[in-house]
Parts: sequence; structure tokens; C-alpha cells
Amino acid sequence: MKVVLIGVGQAGGKITQALAEYDYEMGFDAVQGALAVNTAAADLQSLDIDTQLIGRDRVKGHGVGGDNELGAEIMREESTEVIDELDGRITSRAEGIVIVAGLGGGTGSGGAPMLAHELKRIYDVPVYVLGVLPGRNEGSIYQANAGRSLKTVAREADATILIDNDAWHDNEQSLEASFETINQNIAQRVGLLLAAGEVIDGVAESVVDSSEVINTLQPGGIASIGYASAAAAEDSADNINNIITATRNALLAGTSLPDAVEADTALLVIAGDPDRIARKGVERARSWLEEETGCLEVRGGDFPLDSDRLAALVLLGGVERSSRIQEFLERARQAHEQASEPTPDPSDAFENEQIDDLF
Ligand code: GDP
Repeated sequence: MKVVLIGVGQAGGKITQALAEYDYEMGFDAVQGALAVNTAAADLQSLDIDTQLIGRDRVKGHGVGGDNELGAEIMREESTEVIDELDGRITSRAEGIVIVAGLGGGTGSGGAPMLAHELKRIYDVPVYVLGVLPGRNEGSIYQANAGRSLKTVAREADATILIDNDAWHDNEQSLEASFETINQNIAQRVGLLLAAGEVIDGVAESVVDSSEVINTLQPGGIASIGYASAAAAEDSADNINNIITATRNALLAGTSLPDAVEADTALLVIAGDPDRIARKGVERARSWLEEETGCLEVRGGDFPLDSDRLAALVLLGGVERSSRIQEFLERARQAHEQASEPTPDPSDAFENEQIDDLF
């Protein structure tokens, strides 16, 4: 699936770069262009992809802090410039636009939903958001910002693929120290998904088409992505269980939104050496996925890769009713309430004292 990527904010820019690099290194050619947009000049300097500084008049390259309303406003004012910058990249070959952002910050949190809104008015291809949810231990401002951003992004984008920062985080390390690993994981999984549908040497029996990805994301709302791999035997007949195990692990242990299992739609891509992929294993894995997610139909296909491992990639559409999302929304609501409570006035403590003010 040919796409143009636009990273908004710090996380958005870094993940966009990781995705563009992965696509290039693998030779998939799914990424037709990659641009990073930010209000903070320093965050753009470390990137190797094309960059664009916005909000110069308002924040002079210093970023918006955690003010996502300002992030949204700056994007609204400068969306024409961003779209002009993109126009050459959104060629007739692009089948979709993916906006990438951390939803808990300021520039990406506010800018991503606004940019989705503006792009949808202009382009016919679907506009998706690849959004990062703050982990449980991140501060309440991140939770509150992400709650508002997610609500708006879910309304504006054709679908939002969500990555919970706790999902692919190496628990031995702090979240910040894990960003690189998390970003690599996102790049590999989303990169494979985008590459599904590209013309690849050694056509498999059942190749995924871009329309399968688009149709799986069709219900709109929130989508999640899961991945797991397993060692593969030389002979496909010995790989039936390996395929089923990889699929189970992708859904139950390797997903970007842990515990989000119920879905409206699902796509199962089995990647690996076509000679090692057991048809019977793929069929059984699909039936298992159908039962587990409650989807009426699981779309699917193979993705030929030269590897001695087999991998299962699962895309779920319409997971917004899952307990994980509800739990997050509750966290965001509480954080928002906390933030909106008036700050106590220290002089209240003297209210009942029989002491007169000096003046
Ligand atoms: P912005 O620049 O104002 O859009 O803010 P950020 O992009 O820094 O967004 C903050 C949120 O993104 C927080 O929830 C961070 O945990 C998360 N975040 C920041 N950098 C990264 C990153 O490199 N990878 C991931 N996965 N999350 C990040």
C-alpha cells in the first residue's frame, strides 16, 4: 500500500523517520514520501527526513509545551503551508496518507487531528492516524491531552491505529530509554502492514492486496496491530502449529493495545518463505482468529519474505469498545477533572481566624 507519512511533533517525527528507514532498508517502496512537522526547531534538527517548522510567529521555534489547543490552532493557521509542502509527495500513486503523532504531547496531540481534518477536505484517499497513547505511568497532563486528542482524531481520521506506549516497552528500562525499541517495533509492524499489497518477487498463493488493508480499517474508529514470529521448519507440513502459535501470540501477547481482542474486522497476514507456509495452518489460524475476535470474516493473505522464520501480523478494526480503551478514557477523564479543579487559594486557610488583614 503506497502511502505518504507526515509526522507531527517529536514522537511523530521520530516514528516517521523509523518507518521510512525500515521501508527503504527492506526495499518495500511503500513509503512514497515522509515529512516531519513541528513547532520545536530542536526536535527537527536530529531528523534525516524532510522537515517543516510551523508556528514560528507564535512560539519562535520553541514548541508549544504541553498546550495541545495551541498545537491545534497553529496547525489550523498553517495547514495550507503543510499541504503545499506535501503536494508534490502525494502523487497519484499514493493510496493513503498516514499522520503519525504522540497523542499525549502538544504539537502532535493538537496538530494531528487538525491536519486530518484539513487533509480530508482536499484528498480522496483515506487519511489515517498512527497515534501513540501515553503509558500508565506518564503524568496526568499527558493522559488528559491524549484523551481529548484521541476523541477528536477518532472523529476526523478514517481510522486511528493506536499504539499503547506500555505495549512494546521493555520493562527492564524506563519508558524514555525504551523509545528507540518501541519505535523500531512500530516501524517493523506498521512497515510490514503497509508493504502488504506491494508487488513482491515470488508471488504467493494468496497475496494481500492494499484493498484488504483499507477494508479492514473501513469501520473507522480505532484499530490495533499485533505481531509475533516463530522459527519455521523447512517443510510446510511441519509448520501448521507454528503458524497457529504465531497468530495466537500476535493477538494475545504481541498487540499494540493489550487486551483489545473484540473487533469488527480483522486481517491476518502470514509472512515468510512461501514454501514453508502451510495452507492448513493459515486456514486454522484464521478460524481461530474469527472465534476469538468475534469478527464475521477474517481477511487474509501471505506476504512472501526470504526468511527462515514465519511471522503473523494481525490488524484489528473497530476495537474502541475494548476494556483497554475504556480504561484509558477513564484515566484521561480523571486527569482532565484534576486539571480543571481550581487551584486552592492559600488565603482560604485564614478565613475563619479572628485576625484583621493589614490592609
Ligand atoms: P509534541 O512534540 O508536543 O507533539 O510531544 P511528544 O511527541 O513528545 O509527545 C509526548 C508523548 O509522546 C508522550 O506520551 C511520550 O511518552 C510520547 N513519546 C515521545 N517521544 C516518543 C518516542 O520517540 N517514541 C514513543 N513511542 N513515544 C514517544
